[in-house]
Amino acid sequence: MSQLTVAKFGGTSVADAEAMSRCAAILEQNPDTRLAVLSASSGVTNLLVALASGEQQPEVRATLLQQLTDIQQGILDSLDKPDMLTRHIEDILVHIKELADSAAISPTKALHDEIVAQGELMSTKLFVELLRHRGTPAVWFDVRKVMRTDDRFSRAAPDLATLRAEVEKELTPLCDNQLVVTQGFIGAAQDGRTTTLGRGGSDFSAALLAEALDAIAVQIWTDVPGIYTTDPRLVSDARAIPEISFSEASEMATFGAKVLHPATLQPAVRKQIPVFVGSSKAPEAGGTWIRNSTPSQPLFRALALRRNQVLLTLTNQSMFQVHGFLAEVFGILAKHKISVDLITTSEISVSLTLDAGAELLTEEVQAELGKHCHLKVEQGLALVALIGNRMSEVNGTGTRVFQALENVNIRMICYGASPHNLCFLVQEDSADQVIIDLHRELLPA
Ligand code: ASP
Ligand code: MG
Repeated sequence: MSQLTVAKFGGTSVADAEAMSRCAAILEQNPDTRLAVLSASSGVTNLLVALASGEQQPEVRATLLQQLTDIQQGILDSLDKPDMLTRHIEDILVHIKELADSAAISPTKALHDEIVAQGELMSTKLFVELLRHRGTPAVWFDVRKVMRTDDRFSRAAPDLATLRAEVEKELTPLCDNQLVVTQGFIGAAQDGRTTTLGRGGSDFSAALLAEALDAIAVQIWTDVPGIYTTDPRLVSDARAIPEISFSEASEMATFGAKVLHPATLQPAVRKQIPVFVGSSKAPEAGGTWIRNSTPSQPLFRALALRRNQVLLTLTNQSMFQVHGFLAEVFGILAKHKISVDLITTSEISVSLTLDAGAELLTEEVQAELGKHCHLKVEQGLALVALIGNRMSEVNGTGTRVFQALENVNIRMICYGASPHNLCFLVQEDSADQVIIDLHRELLPA
């Protein structure tokens, strides 16, 4: 039986040569890891996004390009500047400059993705060389051969059937008896143009590739030793969770925990592939295993916070005892590809939150919705999600939660749809305190 494991290394894990060496050591200790999926070195994607934005000032573009060059040069220097690779990286940097110059004249979505993808192309080239330098042979693989997507640039969706077929043809044989290094985040449309899967998409890439390869595990190496009970920058008592179920972890990722890209677990769930999250800086510190089910199923497991929420309230006096109003509203939102997160309804109104910022609520969307109802848009809200198990079944859960929130104005609550979460909206400026209070009361050390 295959023992193949896929390891993904995030931006901070491949920030420079020292960080890359730690990733190399992790791979050398795990010979079953046959595919390494890399992000761009830390900071690189942001620089590329700025270069792709159509920046008009040549001096500003030059400064951005210099910063980009410095990051790549730092890594090349520590590898004693191998001739071929140095020239190759220089060529890529020249290519980026040319693309950014074109973007300044006419920025297009396709150009944007072509530019932004260069970060992963460079980090993977450098990493393969670093591995060779250490005496660990590895093969570089262009993931665009297999990661076929639609052409929604910047947020392309993978075509799973093609991905699977191409992986079987191109990647499975390569991974058979050697280490392969490839790019996260990037893909290619049917016509071959480069696409990207959305910011932070490398985790998702790794999980998709693991699924297509029938891997037995995916490791996500990042800069924190696992998924925490809540953001440790907010609560010093927060601690890493050794094991968590797919359902709980999906809720956490969706509701704001920054460790995993929210889509990451979908392929893992489909194929029941356990996902490990650990720190490449401290692999010995352990991490979090995300599995189908876990032996411990505590009522309260973790707290997530998502800021910058938009609450949309739609009121229609004549909704009383009529049918089809919700269908109408959701039809309009679906047409504009706006996805709804939370929803509560009363007799004549419906309140919902959107998983994107207010920018998706264009005038056009508002006008269309306005034909059917009165519209109210509220901002400055934060979504607090309490994650756990059997929360909708255990008596007294609500009392314990809301006792801890005595002095807080709760704008909207969603409870009961999933046994794994209880979410509510609070004013953004009270959100930190809400998390601190809830953690103290519900997740004491
Ligand atoms: N490099 C990309 C980003 O910064 C993808 C990733 O890191 O997951 O968004
Ligand atoms: Mg990342």
